[in-house]
Amino acid sequence: MFEKILIANRGEIALRVIRACREMGIKSVAVHSTADADAMHVRMADEAVCIGPAPGNQSYLSVPAIISACEITGADAIHPGYGFLSENANFVQVLEDHDIAFIGPTAEHIRMMGDKITAKDTMKNLGVPCVPGSDGGVPTLEEARKVAEEIGYPVIVKATAGGGGRGMKLAKTAKDIDTAFQTARSESKAAFGNDEVYIEKYLGKPRHIEIQVFGDGKGKAVHLGERDCSLQRRHQKVFEEAPGPAIDAETRARIGQICADAVAQINYIGAGTIEFLYENGEFYFIEMNTRLQVEHPVTEGIFGVDLVREQIRVAEGHSLSFSQDDLELNGHAIEVRINAEKLPKFTPCPGKITAFHAPGGLGVRMDSALYTGYSIPPYYDSLIGKLIVHGRDRPEALSRLKRALSELIIDGIDTTLPLFHALLDEPDIHSGNYDIHWLEHWLETNLQG
Ligand code: ADP
Repeated sequence: MFEKILIANRGEIALRVIRACREMGIKSVAVHSTADADAMHVRMADEAVCIGPAPGNQSYLSVPAIISACEITGADAIHPGYGFLSENANFVQVLEDHDIAFIGPTAEHIRMMGDKITAKDTMKNLGVPCVPGSDGGVPTLEEARKVAEEIGYPVIVKATAGGGGRGMKLAKTAKDIDTAFQTARSESKAAFGNDEVYIEKYLGKPRHIEIQVFGDGKGKAVHLGERDCSLQRRHQKVFEEAPGPAIDAETRARIGQICADAVAQINYIGAGTIEFLYENGEFYFIEMNTRLQVEHPVTEGIFGVDLVREQIRVAEGHSLSFSQDDLELNGHAIEVRINAEKLPKFTPCPGKITAFHAPGGLGVRMDSALYTGYSIPPYYDSLIGKLIVHGRDRPEALSRLKRALSELIIDGIDTTLPLFHALLDEPDIHSGNYDIHWLEHWLETNLQG
């Protein structure tokens, strides 16, 4: 059993993990950069260690500094949160060598899913439906033309090392393939130091549907339904909900079982998310994230389980605390991501919070590390909070979201809150009628600046 867990992260996700530790009677260790000495996660943890200067690569991404903090405090496990080192296989390997437990999957599984061609190949072999595309990497322009012709236009050229929407280029017709292939390769080389690309059929109006899975590392796994995260800006999610408005119980059970079986076959351990594009009733695998997702609270809302607690338990060697049959979907949950950004251009807007008031009441959850008087440092991600609501059904969740937004006060900086106030007046949001391009179109029409 773990007695002390070090959280290699900051912000709301560090708080999220500290909360689970406290409920389980486990001591928590916060690590922080010099810029975060006054941060909430430092105040809330049982112990805190400064691990370096403000830039992430000298603190939150510094493996030696984090290992030293573990050794100084006697922590026996590390929870990585999301981002930073959470999907870094080398980090996990180093922890294994130092006899420190990692709360997450094995280095081998992280590596397998971190390379998109290997991930797609693995999933295909495990019976998961994939986007039609090239068999692995496409090394030459001649081959790119040939493969694109076989798949049929439009196609998308994607970097195998890609992430965050970078290294992806659309070719609508044969005229575009040369440029798409060459720019995807050079962008990927510049961003990831790897110019391998592959080609997929481009889907015109899909939804982004992802399945939450959980494995015990011993061949058992369950799924916790889907999240619809189609509302995206520049491939970044901004509004997520569960269950998905376009998914019925039979579809959920079918794709959920396929995903749970797939991860069970590879003895996957911990939380994972299998991401799909969903169009005309078909699922197409795009990638798997081997960590806790930002949007995990909507799943917690509808199933009433604590996913971080479960991550810790399986890392300790326990079996899952629930079986598939124990998981009963209840109501509807929605999350909105609040960023320190100024509309209409979403310009980062760090600064001092002069007043903060979190909403409350039935079915309202605010995950945020803000407090009145806190100064948001300019060095990190602009996510400053997540407002999550739960209702008996989707209309109730939407009216609860509107009510909770009206109570939330964040003064002193600009945030993305006005976007959500405006979205809640949109009939398409109320009917659930949106795809992955809906928000970009809406922003173009409604938020020009
Ligand atoms: P990343 O790891 O960079 O986020 P993904 O493979 O997850 O890349 O794709 C990110 C987004 O790009 C998807 O959510 C979707 O909006 C778009 N996308 C990816 N593949 C396709 C495709 N084959 N057809 C249409 N859109 C796609």
